[in-house]
Amino acid sequence: MAKGLTTTVLHADRQSDIEHGAVHKPMHAAVAYGYRSSRELAAVFQGDKPGHVYGRQGNPTTSALEAKVSLMEQAAGTVCFSTGMAAIGSMMIALLRKGDHVVSSQFLFGNTNSLLQTLAAIGVEVTLADATDVAAVAAALRPATRLVFVETIANPATQVADLAAIGELCAARGVLYVVDNTMTSPWLFQPRTVKASLVINSLTKAIGGHGNALGGAVSDTGLYDWTAYPHIAPAYKKGKPATWGMQQIRKKGLRDLGATLSAEHAHRIAIGAETLALRMDRACGNALLLAHWLETQPGVARVAYPGLASHPQHARAREWFRHFGALLSFELREGVDCFDFLDALELVIKSSHLGDTRTLAIPVAHTIFFEMGAAQRAQMGIGESLIRLSVGIEDFDDLQADFAQALARTAG
Ligand SMILES: *Cc1c(COP(=O)(O)O)cnc(C)c1O
Repeated sequence: MAKGLTTTVLHADRQSDIEHGAVHKPMHAAVAYGYRSSRELAAVFQGDKPGHVYGRQGNPTTSALEAKVSLMEQAAGTVCFSTGMAAIGSMMIALLRKGDHVVSSQFLFGNTNSLLQTLAAIGVEVTLADATDVAAVAAALRPATRLVFVETIANPATQVADLAAIGELCAARGVLYVVDNTMTSPWLFQPRTVKASLVINSLTKAIGGHGNALGGAVSDTGLYDWTAYPHIAPAYKKGKPATWGMQQIRKKGLRDLGATLSAEHAHRIAIGAETLALRMDRACGNALLLAHWLETQPGVARVAYPGLASHPQHARAREWFRHFGALLSFELREGVDCFDFLDALELVIKSSHLGDTRTLAIPVAHTIFFEMGAAQRAQMGIGESLIRLSVGIEDFDDLQADFAQALARTAG
């Protein structure tokens, strides 16, 4: 990417001819695409010509968003899905078979953790490892290990995976390395720089940014040699080997599973992506100020944020990420009720979403991570009174004032 991320995204659509000279790609609601020549229709079906045939396998508006995500991640190709979970699930179902082994970070988005249990129930073997330490990931590898899955900054306790060393390990062993970049977004970090094979983004979060559309993406960095992957069907070994994995993920995920991103949501996400860098600069700046301030408050027992010197992976985060992210979590002093504190907040919204323009707070052990039970929560570093904050782009003084008044009322 020769130009900056924001310039690139703003002008991406114009690189291909847009209908009527529109400055961004219009919303294409058509389900079916007609061809004058039946031979051309057959060529598109067979993957010998680019084009659209039926909306379940994508539409021109979503294709334009895929091109933007590829530019942001400097990826060779991207497939968009209806949600981030659809992206992760489709990728795994397209690539894994019974008896295959997956090594995943134990510090994992709760629904991804649940998805791995679903896959385990149909014969995929799963090992959860402490991904902050490459040695733990290396020890978990087996001959049948097909892929290693990690998140850049885990949610809610903000552990930072040993991203570069795991990338070296996977490259040396020829194992597919999948990095979920949702918490950092391509503005803070590009997983291709640590040799990721595939990059996941929940477009619902920072990239869309406004909490008004669901979407997800799988991008191929082009670094993995798909000729070494045992389960690519002959039909998808078409053209350059670098495209084989994405052909299979697109066909299995969109055509067979139907996890398709609608044109309307693709359009909203594309508009959101135009301001990704501006919003992230502001939200991450707010998060850093808030983390430092919360750490000094007597009502607060501990704060987890990669931008704090007290964070175990602070040095790593400083080296790799442009900012330290917009998510932090904290525990109140013993005896202060986290529900009372949350209910005393007036501006901050009690909500499970993250990566929004608005600041959101949630008691995670009682909500998102409730179903998994206390033992696994403890393994993930989730205390029973942990509060997760997804910091938005409000004016900092207003955020600080809201936390100050809530602390004064409940922990003063
Ligand atoms: C939210 C999230 C997902 C899932 O995205 P959805 O769009 O909500 O399905 C996956 N990974 C991480 C790290 C997330 O935060």
